[in-house]
Amino acid sequence: MTQPSAPITQDVLTLPRKLPEGPVNLIGLTRDAMRAALIAAGTPERQAKMRVGQVWQWVYHWGVRDFAQMSNLAKDYRALLAANFVLDLPQVVTRQVSADGTRKYLVRIAGGHEVEVVYIPETDRGTLCISSQVGCTLTCSFCHTGTQKLVRNLTAGEIIGQVMLARDDLGEWPVPGAPKDETRLLSNIVLMGMGEPLYNFDNVRDAMKIAMDPEGLSLSRRRITLSTSGVVPEIARTAVEIGCQLAVSFHATTDEVRDLLVPINKRWPIATLLDALRAYPGLSNSERITFEYVMLRGVNDTDADARRLVKLIKGIPAKINLIPFNEWPGAPYTRSDSARIKAFADIIYKAGYASPIRTPRGEDIMAACGQLKSATERARKSRAAIAAETGLAP
Ligand code: SAH
Ligand code: SF4
Repeated sequence: MTQPSAPITQDVLTLPRKLPEGPVNLIGLTRDAMRAALIAAGTPERQAKMRVGQVWQWVYHWGVRDFAQMSNLAKDYRALLAANFVLDLPQVVTRQVSADGTRKYLVRIAGGHEVEVVYIPETDRGTLCISSQVGCTLTCSFCHTGTQKLVRNLTAGEIIGQVMLARDDLGEWPVPGAPKDETRLLSNIVLMGMGEPLYNFDNVRDAMKIAMDPEGLSLSRRRITLSTSGVVPEIARTAVEIGCQLAVSFHATTDEVRDLLVPINKRWPIATLLDALRAYPGLSNSERITFEYVMLRGVNDTDADARRLVKLIKGIPAKINLIPFNEWPGAPYTRSDSARIKAFADIIYKAGYASPIRTPRGEDIMAACGQLKSATERARKSRAAIAAETGLAP
């Protein structure tokens, strides 16, 4: 064993000192964790930083998944990597393409669980909507994911893996020697798929750090948006530890209505949430908070709601994203009509806020926000329920 040459810090102590049984997936490890893993596999400590840099570039810049192709590494070292590590992504089970070009992937992760990932092409950008959990612990009454129990948190590798598999499908890894193409098909990431990202903070942070790393995928922090239902104690960490943009699922202007729509409001009501947003580190006119507001007919869509909203958020650099409700089978709400949405938007706009109305995308493949739910997970659950009722094994 080589002796550590640098003083051991708290961080190093928490990293694995020994490789667990079986090959380790390098995808999703932070640079520090990858360094520790390479050392545990026999990389001399004095070379470890350089090796991390090389492997990192192959994996996250070039999209290479085969150690044998890492041509600037000695053959022996490639063999060492192949003997100890894998480069595994979640597996794409189905891929649907909407008439409007939106792509929806059903992706299988370890344990046989499934999450959905959606790619939305627009003229000036391409946005990937990724999931952070299988299901959700929260039960927002208008959200399809909210009807599915939380199964588990995704690992950092499964989160960044969604970005990588979408790049695979889009054929977007750079080709050596080709001129640098600045227009990216996958230019933005939104954490607006399944799950509450702030309830899986560390894995989301590690994955987004990988996405932003300049030696790899190199996405700007301004092109990554994390959406939260309002987990107040974790909100400030988003700015401090990730640095990406923040969106908040606001959806109502009184606690009475928000308690019904976003039940986490009972724990952290509107006033508490707004205090956290006012105190958000790094808030400025160029880095505004996005308030998401789903338009539900007869529930939260009156002129009085629009005026209350403007009053509530006074002083917070903000834009308001109006989301026409996306219906799903059995949903207890309907979408406000377009004249109502327009009138609501006008009040907000006149008060000085940008108030874009989000165009529903991929509706024909149930890819619009809030519609994601894994069909097989549902089937599995109902089979289990049937088994429980009949006393038969599933
Ligand atoms: N859990 C996080 C992120 C995932 S949801 C959150 O709640 O913010 C992404 C956005 O879609 C949220 O603003 C959510 O409230 C909204 N949404 C959920 N279901 C919807 C539906 N059926 N129609 C329109 N928007 C919906
Ligand atoms: Fe979970 Fe977000 Fe859906 Fe609420 S809206 S149930 S927090 S995924």
